[in-house]
Amino acid sequence: MERPINCPACDNAATKESGGNLFRIDCPECGEFNIGDAFNIPELTEEEKIKLRHWLYNLDKEDVTRLKNPINKSNKDKFFNNIKMPTILEKIDLVLNYLSNKTNYFFQEIEIYAGTDYRLFFCKNGRELVDILRHLIDETFIKGNLTLTYKSGEPKPPYKIQLMPKGLKYLEESGKNLKSDQCFIAMWFNDEMQNVYSDVINPAIEQGTGYKAMKIDNKEHVNYITDEIIKEIRRSKFMIADLTGYRGGVYYEAGFAFGLGLPVIFTCREDWKDNIPDKEDKTKIIQEGVHFDVKQRNMIFWKKDEPEEFKKALINRIGAVVGLNT
Ligand SMILES: [Zn+2]
Repeated sequence: MERPINCPACDNAATKESGGNLFRIDCPECGEFNIGDAFNIPELTEEEKIKLRHWLYNLDKEDVTRLKNPINKSNKDKFFNNIKMPTILEKIDLVLNYLSNKTNYFFQEIEIYAGTDYRLFFCKNGRELVDILRHLIDETFIKGNLTLTYKSGEPKPPYKIQLMPKGLKYLEESGKNLKSDQCFIAMWFNDEMQNVYSDVINPAIEQGTGYKAMKIDNKEHVNYITDEIIKEIRRSKFMIADLTGYRGGVYYEAGFAFGLGLPVIFTCREDWKDNIPDKEDKTKIIQEGVHFDVKQRNMIFWKKDEPEEFKKALINRIGAVVGLNT
C-alpha cells in the first residue's frame, strides 16, 4: 500500500510502499529507489542526502540499479564513502566541466535547469548553483542572464549559459580534467620496483579501483622530466608517488601534480622511510629517507614481503581519496 512520506533524499512529498522488509520510495524528483531494512529507513545526514540525490539524478528513471541494493544501516557507510563529496571549489570545476562537455561550437548556449540540475554538482539546492553561475559570470568564465522572465503558472525556463574562452582556458591550464580516469604513477625505475609495479600497483589501480594506470618508462633518461610526463600528469585525475629510492624526479612530479591540485597518494617501502647513518660516523647519512616535508603526510609504508597488504592498503586509499571508478 502506498503511503505519503517526505522523500529521504530530497524531503519533497513522495510515496513509500513496503515490500519485503524495505521500502520502495517513489519521488517525483528523484524517481524510484529502495531504502531501509527491518521496516526502518536510515537517518541520512545533509551530506548523505546530497550524495544520494546526485547518485539518483545520474541514473535514468528506468535504470534498474536504483532498485538493487537498498541503502540500509549496514551498507550505508560503504555506499556513501564511495561517492566523494567535492569541495566548494571543486563544485565550480564540475560546473565548468559540464558546460565544456556540452559545448560543440564557440558560444553555444547550454541550458541549465537550476531547480533540478543542482544535483549534478553536489549543490545543496538550486540557489547554490545559481550562486556558482553568478561567480563564473563575474570571473567572465561564462556568459548568461540569471534573470528569468516567464508567466506565472508556466514552467520555469532554463538558464542559457555560454562558456567563454577564458573559462575554457582555465579548464585546460588547470589540468582539472574531471572526466579523466587516469592515474599517473611516479616511481623509481629499476627491475625490483618494476616487479612491484606489475604485481601490486598496476592491479590495485586497474582491477582494484577501475582506473587506468599510466607509467612512463624512462630508463634511458633517469630523473629526466620529459614533456610527455608533464602532459600525462596534466591528463590524470590523481597520482601515486612512491618515494622508495629518494628519486628527485619523483619528488618533482609529485610537486607538479600537487600544484595542479591533483590528489597525490604517497607510498614508500619501509626501509626507505628514515635516514640511514653511516655505522662509523653517525653524522654522515649513507641513505636518505623520505624528505621531512612529505613525511608528515598520510603515507602508505609497505613491506617487500607483504605485497597483498600493500595492494589492499592502496585500493582503500584510492577509494577514500578519489572514490572507486565503477
Ligand atoms: Zn526525492
